[in-house]
Amino acid sequence: MAVDDSIASLQEAKNLFAKQNNIEPCTNEKCGFSGCTCGKRCGCNIIPSSTVVLETCDPCAEFKRRKEAEKMQNAKEA
Ligand SMILES: [Zn+2]
Ligand SMILES: [Zn+2]
Repeated sequence: MAVDDSIASLQEAKNLFAKQNNIEPCTNEKCGFSGCTCGKRCGCNIIPSSTVVLETCDPCAEFKRRKEAEKMQNAKEA
């Protein structure tokens, strides 16, 4: 399994996106969205804890909603 590879290339995509949009790149490995705008404190796909303040952005939430809808769709068809 090339899990490390896909994480590395996703991070590259995030870095590129951040550079193009003049924002801080998301460094959250659990965030699978290269168009994330949360930056370093990205909390996408992380269960919120009271000790750390994390952020999620609209594009990520939208991405997650789409993924979940896809999953439901797949479950229905399976
Ligand atoms: Zn993110
Ligand atoms: Zn995000």
